[in-house]
Amino acid sequence: MRLSRYFLPILKETPKEAEIVSHRLMLRAGMIRQQSAGIYSWLPLGLKVLRKIERIVEEEQARAGAIQLLMPTIQSADLWRESGRYDAYGKEMLRITDRHERNMLFGPTNEEMITDIFRGYVRSYKDLPLNLYHIQWKFRDEVRPRFGVMRGREFLMKDAYSFDLDKESARHAYNRMFVAYLRTFARMGLKAIPMKADTGPIGGDMSHEFIILADTGESEVFCDKSLLELPTPAEDTDFSSDLTPIVTEWTTPYAATDEMHDEAAFGALAEDTRVSARGIEVGHIFYFGTKYSDAMGAKVATAEGTEVPVHMGSYGVGVSRLLGALIEANHDENGIVWPKSVAPFHVGLVNLKPGDDLTDPVCEDLYAKFEAAGIEVLYDDTDTRAGAKFATMDLIGLPFQVVAGPRGLKDGLLEVKDRATGEKEMLSPEATLNKLT
Ligand code: ATP
Ligand code: MG
Ligand code: MG
Ligand code: MG
Repeated sequence: MRLSRYFLPILKETPKEAEIVSHRLMLRAGMIRQQSAGIYSWLPLGLKVLRKIERIVEEEQARAGAIQLLMPTIQSADLWRESGRYDAYGKEMLRITDRHERNMLFGPTNEEMITDIFRGYVRSYKDLPLNLYHIQWKFRDEVRPRFGVMRGREFLMKDAYSFDLDKESARHAYNRMFVAYLRTFARMGLKAIPMKADTGPIGGDMSHEFIILADTGESEVFCDKSLLELPTPAEDTDFSSDLTPIVTEWTTPYAATDEMHDEAAFGALAEDTRVSARGIEVGHIFYFGTKYSDAMGAKVATAEGTEVPVHMGSYGVGVSRLLGALIEANHDENGIVWPKSVAPFHVGLVNLKPGDDLTDPVCEDLYAKFEAAGIEVLYDDTDTRAGAKFATMDLIGLPFQVVAGPRGLKDGLLEVKDRATGEKEMLSPEATLNKLT
């Protein structure tokens, strides 16, 4: 992509309304634009990162056996009357009336709708286990939308729903999502710690929030330091095997959000292993048994020919919130430092003097070769002063910057900078290509 033909509206001033660094940087880097409180347009650079996050989520959901579909954003109130949540949900639900005076709503989540789909087609235990998910916009009329995409009113969520014959197999479904989440967040370069979360009236131990430690997080969390060092389950993890050992390894050390916090148990840990911090909830998995299948009549025939309500779980990832969490975890005083797996472009190619006989041909050639090699490159071919070009590249945080200036090119050299370490080296165009492709 040539910067001269791209849409990258960089802000020079720091927006006053933004209280935390990720929000400030997303606005300054031209990634999002607020349209109403908690409602954003995704500008090209922001959308690129959002899509990268979605791809990682999709790949890991597929690995764990979840199947993607797409449900609508607008739902009928009648479905929610069946579960009793239409009245219970309260003011966070955005309620809509259509021209026929029918009550509709903008979905805050999809348990009712997926249960309706399930009961419409699935009749037998032979069709289980089943895990269906989508990545769709949600609306929750939050009392205090803030921190940009971290607490939006409209936000993108991945929500998966598992269906099993009994509690035992539902536990396996839960474990598959648990392991998928460990891998998903690790692939984004994040340390997300599963913490025991409130199961409400269902009880039991099957609800975990996945938390990124960050001072700007809205949750108060407590955990054992050893969790920060545990290895991520490998890519070749067999999801059809019993995943209990992995889940046990991750759930044995102490970790809880404030609602579930047990001061005595935490206090019993050695002082230097206690981590008491703030965190960002980026995922939440939950087994809720037959709560919706009972209420909505989602039953399957067993091998013995009887009918039983199906056991369900739901598994959310805050896809749009992750952008904020990623930037909170990866930035410095000059801007964002994207992990390679989610960076909007891999390389920023800077032509310090467009129109110059030395820089132009080298840049054009490199640009074409990067593109041919499938490396995403943002080519700054604009007529801006060098200082502004460097500042923009640092701000948008691409993993590598390749700078072509007349001085270096007299000796046939480009400057290659690693954004994360700040290390710079002078390389020939060939060596640059070898290093970055
Ligand atoms: P929170 O405690 O932050 O209000 P929640 O517990 O209400 O979140 P869930 O119902 O568990 O949210 O939804 C699944 C995921 O969706 C959350 O773990 C979070 O990552 C994301 N999410 C929830 N609310 C928002 C929001 N207002 N803006 C952005 N992401 C959100
Ligand atoms: Mg909430
Ligand atoms: Mg929560
Ligand atoms: Mg939650």
